Amino acid sequence: MKSKWPARLGTRLALSYILLTAVVMILFTGGTEAVLFLQMRAQLAHFAIEDLEEVEGLISFTPDGRLKVRDDYHNHPESKQILEHFLEVRALDGTLLYRNDRLGERTLGGAPQPGEGIGGYSQRSTMLADGTRVVMVSRRHLLDGRPILIRLAQSEEPVWHAREQFLLAAALMFPFMIAGAVLAAYRMSRRILAPVESIASQAERITSSRLHERIPVHGTGDELDHLAEVFNRTLSRLDESFRQLRQFTADASHELRTPLAAIRAIGEVGLEREATPQEYRELVGSMLEEVNRLTRLVNDLLMISRGDAGAIKLNYAPVTVFDMARDTISLLEPLAEEKEQTLVLTGADDASVEADPVFLRQALINVVHNAIKYSPPQATTSLRVARVNGSSVAISITDSGPGIAPEHAAHIFDRFYRVDTGRSRDAGGFGLGLAIAQWAVQAHKGSISVSSAPGEGSTFLITLPVKGTA
Ligand code: ADP
Repeated sequence: MKSKWPARLGTRLALSYILLTAVVMILFTGGTEAVLFLQMRAQLAHFAIEDLEEVEGLISFTPDGRLKVRDDYHNHPESKQILEHFLEVRALDGTLLYRNDRLGERTLGGAPQPGEGIGGYSQRSTMLADGTRVVMVSRRHLLDGRPILIRLAQSEEPVWHAREQFLLAAALMFPFMIAGAVLAAYRMSRRILAPVESIASQAERITSSRLHERIPVHGTGDELDHLAEVFNRTLSRLDESFRQLRQFTADASHELRTPLAAIRAIGEVGLEREATPQEYRELVGSMLEEVNRLTRLVNDLLMISRGDAGAIKLNYAPVTVFDMARDTISLLEPLAEEKEQTLVLTGADDASVEADPVFLRQALINVVHNAIKYSPPQATTSLRVARVNGSSVAISITDSGPGIAPEHAAHIFDRFYRVDTGRSRDAGGFGLGLAIAQWAVQAHKGSISVSSAPGEGSTFLITLPVKGTA
């Protein structure tokens, strides 16, 4: 769903700030005004009650039953209240007994309302016929034994006027304050977002050929620094992946060139001169040997790239490790026999793990094949299966070959890494066997390691969890 909110973060930030300022200003002004207004009005009512008390002392009935209000200011200065307010006195049946000059022809209400002026002062805001807004207080009074209702009202107009003035002033100020908020918001969002812009423009400059470049971290420890650091770490990983990919492609091309060059050379020899059918057969045989080599290499490369791409799905099944080791030995026995070597298998013959038999066997074959390849004639290679604290099974493959120096041991699981390139290639190796074995073991959440020293043989240790995890 497309939002109506502007796309630019800076504009959104500024708008939110302006909106917030406006809302706060309106709420504050409205709140202050309402409190002030209500207080002033309460004050007016309070004064009106006080004045009503004064008035009560100024009224009396004449002997002929008419209501008399002493409103001559000279003799009764307190009657000033009567002159300044609106005053009306009624009998309880609503008959008008008195109203002062200021009220004139207007009225403060008809007959007494139910409960009006009983048990204290009643108070209400009302409007006179000419539109004058007043706050009125009323009270029942017993005068010479006759119940009457006295109503006294105070004009609210000054309070309303003050309210209008206040609101007018606020309304006049509002545009200026909003303009101030706009300016502040604009500057604030620019200041906050400037580093983001700079990170974005620096990131934009980094292409696949400039992956070694990094975004400057200012060391302020704020979120933007954190963003830059995260970005830099991603760049480092990308850089490393690109480097490995380039290396892999270069190495693979190099490896592919060797058998191709050999095939070409054999072909050229065949074409150079007439040969006997026997000689041709031998040439074709050599060619096929190279083609086989090429096929194995391409298969290995395919397997590695599918593994990298996550395209290989392991099919887990219960595997008795001992049986799998025995199968591996049977498979490689002919190679060992060629060198009069012995392969020995010992250990827990019932330990089993959940694993993909195809890939696990491949890993085992690669390691045992190396042991045969690199050990001298008549050597012995021993395989041992053992349970490790109930949750894993370990297979160790110990040979009495030349061993591996520590500086090489750290790299033998790398792709295309060969300690002695010539010797390995003569033995048919591409330097991919251990890389594939490591991939297969790690895909099973297991581990593979080597302990070795030159001249003392090598021991490869493969540890696999009993429970397979997809
Ligand atoms: P390769 O196809 O060359 O054997 P690997 O990945 O299987 O490639 O092994 C990498 C290198 O590790 C080999 O070139 C070899 O030098 C060394 N290596 C592997 N296994 C052994 C072993 N059992 N004894 C001595 N060196 C070994």
